Amino acid sequence: MKHKNIILFIIFSLYSINSAFVAENTKKLDKKHQLLAELKAEQSKKKNYFPFEKEAMKNPNICPVCGKSWDMVDGKNIHVNCLKKLLPPKIEIRCGSCGQYLSTRIKNITYKAELMDKDFCPHPHGPNRPVSNLVICPKCGYSDTIANHKKRLSMKQRAWVLNTLAPVTQREILRLLHLDIKKLNITEHNAYKIFIDPTVTGSQQKSGRELIIESEVPEFIRTVNALKFAEKFYPTNFPILARDSWYAAWAYRKIVVQPMTNSELMDSVNRIMDILEKKFPIPPDPEARVNELVVLYKDSTLYPLIDRQVMLILMSGDYLRLGFRSWAKDCLSSVVNTVKNDSAWAKLKAKIGDKKVKMQRAILRKNAKERMFAIDKEGVYLKKSAEYLRKALIVHIKTKKVFKIDEIPANVYLIGEFEKRLEHYGRAYFWLKAASKMQLPNKKSGAEIWAMGELDSIRSAVGNNPINPSSKTDNAILSTLAKMVHLSNQ
Ligand SMILES: [Zn+2]
Ligand SMILES: [Zn+2]
Repeated sequence: MKHKNIILFIIFSLYSINSAFVAENTKKLDKKHQLLAELKAEQSKKKNYFPFEKEAMKNPNICPVCGKSWDMVDGKNIHVNCLKKLLPPKIEIRCGSCGQYLSTRIKNITYKAELMDKDFCPHPHGPNRPVSNLVICPKCGYSDTIANHKKRLSMKQRAWVLNTLAPVTQREILRLLHLDIKKLNITEHNAYKIFIDPTVTGSQQKSGRELIIESEVPEFIRTVNALKFAEKFYPTNFPILARDSWYAAWAYRKIVVQPMTNSELMDSVNRIMDILEKKFPIPPDPEARVNELVVLYKDSTLYPLIDRQVMLILMSGDYLRLGFRSWAKDCLSSVVNTVKNDSAWAKLKAKIGDKKVKMQRAILRKNAKERMFAIDKEGVYLKKSAEYLRKALIVHIKTKKVFKIDEIPANVYLIGEFEKRLEHYGRAYFWLKAASKMQLPNKKSGAEIWAMGELDSIRSAVGNNPINPSSKTDNAILSTLAKMVHLSNQ
């Protein structure tokens, strides 16, 4: 165990220095990021709209209206009235495929004022909010924009949804329910029933009209199902396919950064949050937070074993937001290994008893495993998004009809950013460099500024000009696009 600690110490020392270096370099060039930070600081000075808004900004587990935790008490949601004040208005629509009544909210996906990752993934404070404007029917699995739900599907599309999407969706919901299924009398055919609104009563219920609370369906099911449908029915609409893959990657990243809400870990989580709060009166960006966590983690004598595992889980979320997926995974596998190692827990067992320790270990393992799985999935969808975007640009070169000219630099930047997050540094460098040179009149895109920051970050990790194995094909695409942008400037 001692030996393992030393290795980790060395690894994390390295990470910390590197990450700080990256942060420093990125910040210099990253004017947009700076603007966001200023805006954030400005906002925090303004008067609060809700009594506990300030507290909620520091701790996303707190309701801004009543100040209590978001956790359910005895399975009851105590924030029904708070949510009325917090959330956009409710609307009711019918599923465009099976006709199920769905209750949802207007999903206003604006990212401007929120902190974003370098691929624009928004991380607003407060309870988990959607990353997409998609609406899903958990009964049949059809997921699409409200406008498309209203258009209704064709018979052929409905048959495909019923035969292909519906069973997969029910199984996925069951998987999420884990062990609680037996109590709930739920099967592979009706798993969607857990989302039925229990308050629909009286005449409505008599007429057999179930209402599903759509917003309670996890975002990753919503985004993945939309992508599956698009891949089946619009296989050449590459911008839509890229968008849905991108949303899915975000949805999985959100799982990795989601707060730990298990009551067994709450003491540790609260202790660490308190320390971070004192250090950062305004919520820090992930660079700053992870560097602080590394410092805390390094002293193995200062914090109890469980606190340190919680730190690792928090660090993994920050690293993933920054695009360091291997480091994010290292943190989580370290948790899994520690959970496995009996001797590490001997002292704690003597102190608080076998039963409690067993439960805490199981919960830590579950948290770490779920997040590791989500990191892999995030990678799958980032890769898809990069491929679809590349195809969209190739079609654009032939037809000139896919994008407006001022959308090109941002899309070139995004491919570079996705490749960077996939740790394909050679390819990422190639695309980011191209994006950094694609300036629009009046610097309209801003992508070139972000691209320069990300290039610096790659340089600090792997040096100048890493080799791109696909440089030949990439070069052909990029030189044509650069010409298009350049010509539009004249
Ligand atoms: Zn509340
Ligand atoms: Zn449906």
